[in-house]
Amino acid sequence: MTRKVISYKDGHVYEFAPNMEPIYTAKDGESITFETIDSLNKAVQSDSDLMDAIPEEVNAATGPVAVEGATPGDVLKVEIEDVRLNEEQGRVITAPEFGLLQDHEDIEHPATRVTEITKDSESLLFKDLEVPINPIIGTIGVATSEETIATLIPHNHGGNLDTTDMTTGTIAYFPVFQEGAMLAMGDSKAAMADGEMCGTGAEIGTDIDVTVSVIKDAVVDLERPLVDTGDAWKTIASAETMEDAVEMANEDLIKLLALEHDYSLTDAYLFSSLVGGLEISQVVDPLVTARNSVPSEYFSDPF
Ligand code: CA
Repeated sequence: MTRKVISYKDGHVYEFAPNMEPIYTAKDGESITFETIDSLNKAVQSDSDLMDAIPEEVNAATGPVAVEGATPGDVLKVEIEDVRLNEEQGRVITAPEFGLLQDHEDIEHPATRVTEITKDSESLLFKDLEVPINPIIGTIGVATSEETIATLIPHNHGGNLDTTDMTTGTIAYFPVFQEGAMLAMGDSKAAMADGEMCGTGAEIGTDIDVTVSVIKDAVVDLERPLVDTGDAWKTIASAETMEDAVEMANEDLIKLLALEHDYSLTDAYLFSSLVGGLEISQVVDPLVTARNSVPSEYFSDPF
């Protein structure tokens, strides 16, 4: 079967909602490709293109794609097989009232630095420095349970998670809230640091190969995104404060650990303090995102 390619032009969304209309319906287990554009809708092509404000329509997410058989209560499994850059430069920016140090008087808001990709596609150039390419998907998620949530915002459905683990080789799991799940993604980066302090990574268009499948009757009651990076399993939680986000991520993780090892929550909590640990995804989107990891040697596929 020819692999279906879903392009930005076929359809994209700027919000995740409870009742989304699919632009394509994939079979359970089908492998498809999402073509995405950069989060700033191609508005920034040189250092002189400045963002005076974050536009209302940002983080275009290509899709949504329905997956046959997915119903609320199921888990959508998304195997991220490859994330390829589809343009020759990225861009890292600041914008007013955006970013960790938005009130710092010595930092320019707005500012733009275009990051050219080297010919071998191995690195990007930031001024005089080379940075290895490590493409990630910034915004990835499914239909929400109740609220309509802009693609600028992360929540239990995924969305603007800006998580460096959303990359080639990772398997991401999302709770299904609507028939078909309604997967959409975009807002990729050629490289991004944990935290995404200035508000962006090297924003860039990508082609993303995934295989989507539905998990029925999961023993785990998944409330929020979960990833398996191959080396570790990580819960991902977004909240208004980092304190709340890390608390939720830890609580999600200890529930999984308790189930796997037949531990009490107390033992799972104590164990979670010994290996893996808390990680910061991003501190700049209207909600912040944290994750709690456990090395794969202590945790196996809960599905
Ligand atoms: Ca983002």
